[in-house]
Amino acid sequence: MSRDFLEALQAAGPQVLTDPDAVRSAATDRSGTPVDTLPLAVVRTRSVDEVRSVLRLAHEHRVPVVPRGGGSGVAGGAVATPGCLVLDLAPMRRILELDPLDEVAVVEPGVITADLDAAAREHGLMYAPDPASAAISTLGGNIATNAGGMRCVKYGVTREAVLGLDVVLADGRLLRTGRRTLKGVAGLDLTSLFVGSEGTLGVVVGAAVRLRPVPRATVTAAAAFTDVRDAAAACAAIARERLQPSLLELLDRPTLEVIDRAQGTDLAARGGALVIAQADGVAAVAEIEEIAQVLGKEASWVEHAVDDASSERLLAARRMALPSIERFGRALIEDICVPRSRLAEAFEGIAAIATRTGVDIYSFAHAGDGNLHPIISFDAAQVPDEVVEAADAIFGLALDLGGTVTGEHGIGLLKREWLAREAGADSLETQAALKRALDPHHLLNPGKVL
Ligand SMILES: Cc1cc2nc3c(=O)[nH]c(=O)nc-3n(C[C@H](O)[C@H](O)[C@H](O)COP(=O)(O)OP(=O)(O)OC[C@H]3O[C@@H](n4cnc5c(N)ncnc54)[C@H](O)[C@@H]3O)c2cc1C
Repeated sequence: MSRDFLEALQAAGPQVLTDPDAVRSAATDRSGTPVDTLPLAVVRTRSVDEVRSVLRLAHEHRVPVVPRGGGSGVAGGAVATPGCLVLDLAPMRRILELDPLDEVAVVEPGVITADLDAAAREHGLMYAPDPASAAISTLGGNIATNAGGMRCVKYGVTREAVLGLDVVLADGRLLRTGRRTLKGVAGLDLTSLFVGSEGTLGVVVGAAVRLRPVPRATVTAAAAFTDVRDAAAACAAIARERLQPSLLELLDRPTLEVIDRAQGTDLAARGGALVIAQADGVAAVAEIEEIAQVLGKEASWVEHAVDDASSERLLAARRMALPSIERFGRALIEDICVPRSRLAEAFEGIAAIATRTGVDIYSFAHAGDGNLHPIISFDAAQVPDEVVEAADAIFGLALDLGGTVTGEHGIGLLKREWLAREAGADSLETQAALKRALDPHHLLNPGKVL
């Protein structure tokens, strides 16, 4: 990096870190993707003006920029590319406005997801999208990846919560999209274009997001089944009865066994698959009773809880799934989505891939959305060939079943080849044209997504 450029960056106000330890710690994300060449510098910004200055300078000097929030991504989206600046937005963590009557919050990009939810709860409101990483991910990262979570089956993913954005474009211009109102259809929907764009089209520096009332009650049911086919059929029966759970999770036998091994529980003794459902709102108790009845028809065990403590106990199995798997090896966290009607085929197809490749795969799903997380566990510093083979087979399976190679984690660095297969040439070229229009020099998060 030229001395002039570095001095100009520092004069613009942000903290510029060049020492190897600081730079190395911001070079990768939770995908664990190794980085051969360290970034030129990490630039920590505290204001919109600082972000604009950094992007203006990077544009002038044709230096690539990788935006970064909490670094919790698992698709390699925030992984540094050779010769880049890492633009760390974590210091911008103010909730600028929280309007309880309009049920809207205006936030900076570095606000931690769980902090916004906690602030909203002081007013009887919640921020509905709930990635399991809410304690470590940022709103900017959630918006850039269109993050999902367990509550999304009822409340929708991040896109449904975002009303408007402030975005700094590749040349430093500030663009305002959308609005602060709950409705509004003036012009093309640029907000949706930036949601899920993984830092390739612009840098999110502010967001107006929708809050929702905290449901009066939340209650839980759990049921065990002989196998994933019966469990998936029970989830389909819930949908057919037009019941609307606020959470619907399905765990397969290997997952139950690894939780038992790690936590000393006896889940696998109850059946070969577990379904956990929640209902919320004023009719929650009546609704969970109906859900439990539907689940109970084919279940080997069913229980429902109406108080918070026992609800949390039933949900604990799901929360412990990933930590339990990680106790026994490295975990490649995968993420596919299939039509809900193909859920059983997806689980069985993944089990067949595990047998064929000889790798350990633990699968659980946001069953209400058809979004599966097959977790491939291995015990080696480098990802072994058979793990790559199994992951590729899982993506192929998702496409064969009419699904997608990512339900919520994004394409990032790791699934680019698969985006090409899923989207097809015309879609890919349209996406590339949008990229060229907004970032003609290909400086924003190059090598990601497209
Ligand atoms: C244990 C664990 C559980 C997880 N559970 C879930 C889950 O339930 N649901 C889910 O969807 N994901 C989950 N994830 C993945 C991850 O947490 C999400 O993708 C999250 O949205 C990333 O947020 P972040 O702030 O950490 O972003 P980062 O990892 O820093 O960045 C992610 C992407 O967003 C871009 N980006 C970041 N900030 C901005 C910005 N301000 N403007 C423009 N681009 C930006 C980056 O360039 C990168 O492409 C999980 C991850 C872990 C480790």
